[in-house]
Amino acid sequence: MGTNLNHIGVLTSGGDAPGMNAAIRAVVRACTHYGIKVSGIQEGYQGLIDGNMDEMDARSVAHIINRGGTILQSARCLQFREKKGREKAHDNLKANDIDALIIIGGDGSFTGANLFSQEFDIPVVGIPGTIDNDIYGTDFTLGYDTALNTVVEAIDKIRDTATSHNRLFFIECMGRDAGFIALNAGIAGGATEILIPEDNKTLDDVVNKLEYSRSAKKTSNIVLVAEGDQLGDTFKLAEETQKKLPDHDIRVSVLGHIQRGGNPTCADRVLGSRLGVAAVEQLLHGHSGIMVGLRNDTVTTETLHDAITKKPGINRNLMHVADIVSL
Ligand code: ADP
Repeated sequence: MGTNLNHIGVLTSGGDAPGMNAAIRAVVRACTHYGIKVSGIQEGYQGLIDGNMDEMDARSVAHIINRGGTILQSARCLQFREKKGREKAHDNLKANDIDALIIIGGDGSFTGANLFSQEFDIPVVGIPGTIDNDIYGTDFTLGYDTALNTVVEAIDKIRDTATSHNRLFFIECMGRDAGFIALNAGIAGGATEILIPEDNKTLDDVVNKLEYSRSAKKTSNIVLVAEGDQLGDTFKLAEETQKKLPDHDIRVSVLGHIQRGGNPTCADRVLGSRLGVAAVEQLLHGHSGIMVGLRNDTVTTETLHDAITKKPGINRNLMHVADIVSL
């Protein structure tokens, strides 16, 4: 292909997400396929700064496609935010003869990657890895589908108790800035109400919906709350609702970190494989400062600048569907 790259480095950064291992595996095997060297950098940008990296081959990524987390480990690295830290990272890249980087992570990781690429003229390509699906330029990020299925499974289990005891459950799921998980898992899990940061439902809206639901003879109710919803803390929200609906038996369940882990679904494994191969091919074509993503089942690219600065929109039609099917 169009460049004389000899050696690519790959790292995972920020929050871990199922499917990252599939992407690492695909990067390593694509490098093997195209006859170039590849090194795995441990603990994200921290490993770049510490010089913690090793060459990999097709066999070093055996038996990982089915595993959650990341074999390269991840880290939040404060030093990389400073020019001095990035200079150290650059020195280590040079010392190891690495001439391009593939960064698997979220928008924070891409911000660092873009800066680093511009400062030191190092080609970089990003692969979106975050369970929240909140990256512009791709329909899906790595880990999102797995997290969705985890949340739906949890709702199904909680529903058994809700139904047996005529209870109302407030379930909090991940989504500090984006409601993709809550909206989709809420529809799939049959939630009565879904609260997401992109919407502006009030406490009265929630109470009215629950009152209607009782009058419609629903025996259990689930309100799925994305952690970043504007109504705030889920326990407080449950308390305020209890004051307005004193005859409801209300419980709260915060799903927490179980949403991050677990074996990746088929969709995440295939996505990681496609984006890993695409990232290597983009570098070999001489492209840099971009993210590979998937749109309409086609691998596409987006500038890192846009991936970082633009916000992916929530599908308003899904909100409409959620309102109708929850009656
Ligand atoms: P994510 O990639 O999941 O959004 P973070 O926001 O924690 O996760 O970012 C991961 C890492 O990327 C940070 O620990 C830091 O090393 C690097 N990073 C984030 N923002 C910047 C920035 N503005 N400049 C340089 N590096 C950054």
